[in-house]
Amino acid sequence: MIRTQGLTKYFGRIRAVDDVALEVAEGEIYGFLGPNGSGKTTTVRMLLGLVLATSGSIEMMGHPMPRRAREVLPEVGSLVEGPAAYPGLSGRANLSLVDAMGPGGSRATRSRRIEEALEEVGLAGVDRRPVRAYSLGMRQRLGLAATLMRRPRLLVLDEPTNGLDPQGIHEVRELLLRLNREGTTIFLSSHLLAEVEQLCHRVGVLDRGRLVLQESLAEIRRPTGRWYVETQDVARARALLDGQVDRIEGDRLVVRHDDSAALNRLLVEGGVRVTALTPERRTLEEVVLKATTDSPDKVVRP
Ligand code: ATP
Repeated sequence: MIRTQGLTKYFGRIRAVDDVALEVAEGEIYGFLGPNGSGKTTTVRMLLGLVLATSGSIEMMGHPMPRRAREVLPEVGSLVEGPAAYPGLSGRANLSLVDAMGPGGSRATRSRRIEEALEEVGLAGVDRRPVRAYSLGMRQRLGLAATLMRRPRLLVLDEPTNGLDPQGIHEVRELLLRLNREGTTIFLSSHLLAEVEQLCHRVGVLDRGRLVLQESLAEIRRPTGRWYVETQDVARARALLDGQVDRIEGDRLVVRHDDSAALNRLLVEGGVRVTALTPERRTLEEVVLKATTDSPDKVVRP
């Protein structure tokens, strides 16, 4: 759905995006992570043709961008740096304009499409207030509603839950999951690890402009080959497992072993009461922190 090669952007002497090769497959939810200033927004803006790359290439839905923007962009819904809306008009009036410009369908059914879109984003009860009077969260939802009216194949969202309260974040997450189940590919940038962990199939991590990790969440969360052994008999377990215990954390030992059944048998036959035996998995946070602290400093200093 999205493929970039060598994607690079300089602002003067600042290398904001550096040799980035993204791979976003059809049907997935891709989380684009990175600390503030790492180049996420610049990358998203290049994907959408809002800013020109200094070098490198972008392909979206098999077409080169921005050369084929006229074919590609009608199939892409986007929300970048706060939704655009006419502040003096109501939310419904804004959506009506969006519908009139897009492939929406007949005018007769326009108000039904608008009500459906408002409902989808939790704005069904919105009154005639102008958008100027909306909270940031309401604007964000209206932007999403506008995006949905075009029924895009691909959604490109920059920090979609920015400014939303926990309930709003939950609703947007459910909405994105539903759209994805119905076939929409979603590329979203975020600096919220928990959000990405709950939502995404794959992640890309940007650090100082460089893509330092691109991996499926399933791979990231794969068992490490170590086991957590929970027991009241820590000393006895440790003696039995001499040389295989990596560390002890209170009532649990972290043990290297390639066969959990054999490990359990060894402990139980040795008189250790095992209360739980679970595989150790890395968290997204651990993996991201490691990738970002390990990456070499590639910032070009003026
Ligand atoms: P955030 O999470 O804070 O939005 P980000 O990961 O989206 O950060 P970018 O906004 O893409 O990061 O910025 C990357 C770098 O490029 C930063 O050093 C920023 O100062 C610089 N930058 C971005 N836009 C411009 C611009 N128009 N002119 C000059 N420098 C820019």
